[in-house]
Amino acid sequence: MKAPSFDTSADVIVVGAGPAGATAATYLARAGIDVLLLEKSTFPREKVCGDGLTPRGVKQVLALGIDVSGDDWVKNKGLRVVGGGVSLELDWPDLTSYPPFGLVRTRRDFDEMLADLAVKAGARMRQATNVSSPIIDERTGRIIGVTAKTPEGPTNFHAPLVIAADGVSARVAIGMGIDKREDRPMGVAVRRYYRSDVRTHDDYLESHLELWDRSDPAKPMLMPGYGWIFGLGDGTVNVGLGVLNSSKAFGRTDYRALLKTWMEGTPEEWGLREETAIGTTLGAALPMGFNRTPHYRNGLLLIGDAGGAVNPFNGEGIAYAMESAALAADAVLQGLGRPEGPAREHALAGYPAAMSDHLGSYYRLGNVFSKLIGQPKIMAAATKLGLPRKQLMYLVLKVLAGLYDTRDGDWADKVTVALTKVVPRV
Ligand SMILES: Cc1cc2nc3c(=O)[nH]c(=O)nc-3n(C[C@H](O)[C@H](O)[C@H](O)COP(=O)(O)OP(=O)(O)OC[C@H]3O[C@@H](n4cnc5c(N)ncnc54)[C@H](O)[C@@H]3O)c2cc1C
Repeated sequence: MKAPSFDTSADVIVVGAGPAGATAATYLARAGIDVLLLEKSTFPREKVCGDGLTPRGVKQVLALGIDVSGDDWVKNKGLRVVGGGVSLELDWPDLTSYPPFGLVRTRRDFDEMLADLAVKAGARMRQATNVSSPIIDERTGRIIGVTAKTPEGPTNFHAPLVIAADGVSARVAIGMGIDKREDRPMGVAVRRYYRSDVRTHDDYLESHLELWDRSDPAKPMLMPGYGWIFGLGDGTVNVGLGVLNSSKAFGRTDYRALLKTWMEGTPEEWGLREETAIGTTLGAALPMGFNRTPHYRNGLLLIGDAGGAVNPFNGEGIAYAMESAALAADAVLQGLGRPEGPAREHALAGYPAAMSDHLGSYYRLGNVFSKLIGQPKIMAAATKLGLPRKQLMYLVLKVLAGLYDTRDGDWADKVTVALTKVVPRV
């Protein structure tokens, strides 16, 4: 291995410059920590996503001090839920904890903007740097760096702490022996862009609850998941669908075909047809409900998708990637402020504890929910009974989008908090 022309050691290495990694790197660099941010691709790059931020995601964007008043951001005021012949517009709730609006911005723009922010804060980002494995101290079992393929050849990077923000592939965690938990839900989602003057401007994020798999016409199956149409305000829309692994049909369904069939059934005037499609349908897995733990072990912190942080109720992941990044950055700052050894480890153990306090009971409820709706009869009954009842849907919105005040909230907040408390630990 030839010596590289750049400095390969740092206080902290962050692997992956998606929303999780860029956020963690920003907070750490702003606090004066020397951070190396290693990213396998080169910005701007595409990321398969719905491009939608609920108020939970917006809160994280605002927390970084990002100005969202410009034309780059498409604001929305709520969620339109469509299903069972009903279309219901639910405004985002008015809460102390979250802003009352959501945003849409392509991940091509959004991720580059976040990575730039990390660099402006002082993080040293190295793009085209594909991390292949952790470097482990044989004596202690701790991670002490990573090996990566770089334009200058294979390179070793060293730091006493590593944050894995490498998304669902979770290569670093796997290299450290932290495997996926099979008892937690997993989803699959696909998306495609279309040109549509009719649907590109929308004050609401639109979700369609009835996804029918009609590949066997004799046995149409209601899928546990939903489809979305998010207007990007520039003449295009992001359309996609996500399905949970809790149903029998999971893995046997052609999701791209499902999206195509759904699009063909939408009104002609929306223009969502093969001729207006931009590019192909792309898909990826959604690691949910903390499906990779522990979130800290032997010098390695897992954040975002690498730690299975996607919300099992709605498949939203950006907000939780950024929330976990903020919590991890805090624990790292506390850890680096103490001497190496038990004192530092004590502070770092604060990260999984904070994740558990912050999302543990809510995700446990979500994991139960994902199992229930995997049964087509329950999914059908929930759609039929719930949608026509606006008060009930107001509660459902709060639960599904994680938008509730834990203190001094309204009746729906109190019901949500109570629900999270009754789910047993597993
Ligand atoms: C089809 C689809 C639609 C979705 N829609 C939404 C939505 O509308 N709203 C929402 O909130 N969430 C959505 N999600 C989930 C969301 O995309 C993820 O939860 C989110 O991107 C997680 O952020 P992250 O930073 O943890 O991981 P990622 O965004 O995956 O970022 C990981 C980064 O690490 C880099 N990387 C990976 N491996 C390596 C390596 N070995 N070395 C160096 N770098 C590496 C990658 O290039 C990438 O830049 C959707 C997901 C899918 C699949």
